[in-house]
Amino acid sequence: MKHKTKTLIFPIFLPMQGCKERCIYCDQNLITSDKGINYAEQLKLAKSFLQAHRGTQRQVAFYGGTFTGLEQGKRDELIGELRDYLDAEASFRISTHPLFINEEIISWCKESRIKTVELGIQDFDGEVLRASGRNYTTEEAITACRLVKEAGLELGVQLMPGLPGARSGKEGEKQAETAERHQTSFDCGGLATAGYKSAVCSWSVQQPPVQVAKGKRPYRNEHPDFGDSVSDSQLTTHNSQLVNQAVVASLQPHFLRLYPVIVIRGTVLHQMWLRGEYQPLSLEEAVHQCADWQQVCDEAQVKVIKMGLPSQMDQSSIVAGPWHPAFGQLVQAELLVRSLEQEYSSVSIIKLDKKQWALIMANNKMYLEVLQKRLPGCRLLPPTADSAHAKRQRQV
Ligand code: SF4
Repeated sequence: MKHKTKTLIFPIFLPMQGCKERCIYCDQNLITSDKGINYAEQLKLAKSFLQAHRGTQRQVAFYGGTFTGLEQGKRDELIGELRDYLDAEASFRISTHPLFINEEIISWCKESRIKTVELGIQDFDGEVLRASGRNYTTEEAITACRLVKEAGLELGVQLMPGLPGARSGKEGEKQAETAERHQTSFDCGGLATAGYKSAVCSWSVQQPPVQVAKGKRPYRNEHPDFGDSVSDSQLTTHNSQLVNQAVVASLQPHFLRLYPVIVIRGTVLHQMWLRGEYQPLSLEEAVHQCADWQQVCDEAQVKVIKMGLPSQMDQSSIVAGPWHPAFGQLVQAELLVRSLEQEYSSVSIIKLDKKQWALIMANNKMYLEVLQKRLPGCRLLPPTADSAHAKRQRQV
């Protein structure tokens, strides 16, 4: 079987550069642990990276801001510094805001050897976008994705489960009011002009709003250990998740990043949380939602390349929300337990391989407890015990 070669990535963080306003949950300086980046030094390191790995698939990535929201002169300057160091295997990768994508920008991206565009969509659900002050509609988000994909560029989509508005009722209304007050002047630099707006958006969310039966989780989340801790109002969170999953399955981006929302000190979301207007997902909810996403994406053949915010984040800046240093590992453990539930019954003896054992025992055996609740009475056979047993068998 032919394996796709891994692309090496050299990231350059431009915290919130090109952003016309700070989003209600965002502080990129804290997320990227930026203690004052020396850009000249970063570009020098990027040049060395490009030279050192000649002949390998590699990209220099501009992350942490709205790259196409930067003045074109600034963009040209950054790209121009590195262009001479590119060979056929090297290219650029950028992250940007969906309102800063149009046909002109896409042409500029192609001319500038940008091969991958990651769009910070955050949510495709119109209600969530409104309540989170995102200033664009579902259709505009989808159009931006389509423009990237149809131009033959690699499309990455970033989503944030648990944004304001994902829950209905009074809480959602209050969140929408606050977010609208906050949206003072989001200047799109003229990008949302006729060319952009008139781009044909033939896509629409085909299905009606998802109805969730009272007390019932919509997607494989009927696990007794978390069941009691989730209220009916919280269950509506999953409605927007299903809308998002339907859009992603239809759009088929090349990859997805999932960043469950956390509350960072000093952000508008922090104020909303202090006033009781916003409640983040619990860690369990976030892990379950991301596990659901992984299952949906496996079926839709969409790669999930990241779940959870960086583990090096300054923890003192996090005031609430489902941040965990090994978030991705918790999701893997959740998926493993789901698959064991399919395969075994409560009284089974379950043989685990090394990797599975490590997942179950990691994080203070959090998922050992979960497994024992979901398959009470099951007995685990660790890989070492198994091989010792096999050795004894051979000696007899
Ligand atoms: S556009 Fe992205 S980087 Fe800029 S403020 Fe919003 S979330 Fe942060």
